[in-house]
Amino acid sequence: MPLRVQPVKMRADNTAWLFQDEATGATAFVDPADAAPAIAAVEAAGGRLDLILLTHHHDDHVGGALALKARTGAAILGNAADAHRLPPLDRPVQPGDRIPFGAAGAEVIDTPGHTRGHIAYFLADGPALACGDTLFSLGIGRLFEGTPEEMFESLGRFGGFPDATLVCCGHNYTASNARFALTVDPENADLVTRAAEVREAGARGELSVPSTLGQERATNPFLRAGTAEALGRLRREKDEFKG
Ligand code: ZN
Ligand code: FE
Repeated sequence: MPLRVQPVKMRADNTAWLFQDEATGATAFVDPADAAPAIAAVEAAGGRLDLILLTHHHDDHVGGALALKARTGAAILGNAADAHRLPPLDRPVQPGDRIPFGAAGAEVIDTPGHTRGHIAYFLADGPALACGDTLFSLGIGRLFEGTPEEMFESLGRFGGFPDATLVCCGHNYTASNARFALTVDPENADLVTRAAEVREAGARGELSVPSTLGQERATNPFLRAGTAEALGRLRREKDEFKG
């Protein structure tokens, strides 16, 4: 695989991501909540950092960006439409842009719902999808600034990506998401198996990210919701869920 994909644990349950193109050594870091763990991960990977990719403006995704840039000289990229509430962007990007990185580059995907200006990055070399707080392993982000319709359309933009795509999401909420998913879809054998794997991983202190888009298509009730209305209903139930 020409792209090395590594989750970097931050704060209580954030997962930032380090992507390294094995052919050139080019390195990108997604959503540095804090600089110290990001710098440690970059140094362990050889010390080079070219790009800091931001998915959305929340502090637990951008808080370490400036200090990480100061240390590494990397360029900060984020959605031009949200530049007013992101750290200063060296390269404002827009949905549809292809950022040079590795052989195939990183494609910018429009993913409003969690926040208005949320974007995701698809790296065909992985393939890997850095999706921030849009799609989680067995869940989705809260709809702080968007509608169920917007989130439904955002998730639909991942529809053409291969099943093997690594889902590099912004939080490791898999265990609680699995408990909710089982209440929605208890007869889904793939989900039952996966929920057990997630519990075992948690007991060993391991992350249960990244998953793959194929796994999410088989087990994530929000991706399996056929309509925006059904997705909105699930999201409201999950907001109330105490599990
Ligand atoms: Zn967020
Ligand atoms: Fe977040």
